[in-house]
Amino acid sequence: MKNRNGYFGEFGGAYVPKPLEKILKEIENAFFTYIEDPSFLEELKYYQKEYIGRANPLYYARNLTDSIGGAKIYLKREDLNHTGAHKINNTIGQVLLAKRMGKKRIIAETGAGQHGVATATVCALFNIDCTIYMGEKDIERQSLNVFKMELLGAKVVPATTGRKTLKDAVDAALNDFIENCETTFYLLGSAVGPHPYPVMVREFQSIIGKEAREQILEKEGRLPDYLIACVGGGSNAIGLFNPFYDDLDVNIVGVEPAGLGLDTKDHAASLSKGTIGVIHGFKCYTIQDEAGNDLPVHSIAAGLDYPGVGPEHCFYKDSNRGKYVTVTDNEALEAFKTLCKTEGIIPALESSHALSYGMKLAKNLSKDKIIIVNLSGRGDKDAKQIKEILNCK
Ligand SMILES: *Cc1c(COP(=O)(O)O)cnc(C)c1O
Repeated sequence: MKNRNGYFGEFGGAYVPKPLEKILKEIENAFFTYIEDPSFLEELKYYQKEYIGRANPLYYARNLTDSIGGAKIYLKREDLNHTGAHKINNTIGQVLLAKRMGKKRIIAETGAGQHGVATATVCALFNIDCTIYMGEKDIERQSLNVFKMELLGAKVVPATTGRKTLKDAVDAALNDFIENCETTFYLLGSAVGPHPYPVMVREFQSIIGKEAREQILEKEGRLPDYLIACVGGGSNAIGLFNPFYDDLDVNIVGVEPAGLGLDTKDHAASLSKGTIGVIHGFKCYTIQDEAGNDLPVHSIAAGLDYPGVGPEHCFYKDSNRGKYVTVTDNEALEAFKTLCKTEGIIPALESSHALSYGMKLAKNLSKDKIIIVNLSGRGDKDAKQIKEILNCK
């Protein structure tokens, strides 16, 4: 397997306090053992099919394509998964690993609550004790997701330090993890954090790209010209991209949130505007001040609102295997509305960033070109926020 040592060029690694090193080593050993164990893989495949509902379609968006008049746009329908996004691909994988390791308790951090819900879901499925750390401010803003987690049997614990948002929830979860490592598994939500998480999350999410590859070969008899996905921490994107890494004719494009604009402070474009630093135990491009403290970030899409980015994307960028572009809040909102009207699909605001760039690109390409856009999630969760925004305009 690629990147077994946890490095992607100079990025990644494990910059953690001593007590964590031993626990991470234990997870690393278990992961690399089970990911090649036929009975583990069979169990994973069973839940991917019967619980998540995979394989989901690679849908040819004919109306959208015709309305633009350029390249063919296909949508990888992660929005059709159980719980409505790609996150469950990863939580199912990690919970099965935790079970094999004999762990009795799962903890996780969550920002907007989507990863918390996906974690609480699989803990309910396997009857595992579940604690979710969430910033006090996020708990107020995302009360519906808090309610869902509680319905699913999880305990939601507020993080009350710092800005009372995602970073503080991560710190609280890490402290819990160090204290209770014998019994507890930390289920991380994106392709970030110290080794082995970026590799592990990538492997569990790579089902997206493996399916897309097979599906496009069946439908078009060839590989696509472009893959496009939004990049928060980077898990849905790397899940699509990685299985095409060696196909050099396939262009890889990650889309970061430009928020109110790259020339303002209100964006979360870590690759486009960040500098190299260490955040949450790994080296990456990050939005930080000169002293290395992470700065507040903004995106209309709560799931893209993260000051760092997965190490594999940093490597793709520096080695030119991937290109990273940005889309503003307003552009994402326009793409959101367009997909609703043309295809009858309500996309997540996160996915609308990928869609926006995909549409712009399609217009400038000839009709024989093929683009795959990862529709990472559905937009039901965003309907209320969008209603409020549109009412104010
Ligand atoms: C969480 C989320 C994202 C961003 O996370 P990645 O790890 O970058 O994939 C994107 N889309 C949706 C729908 C999400 O819920």
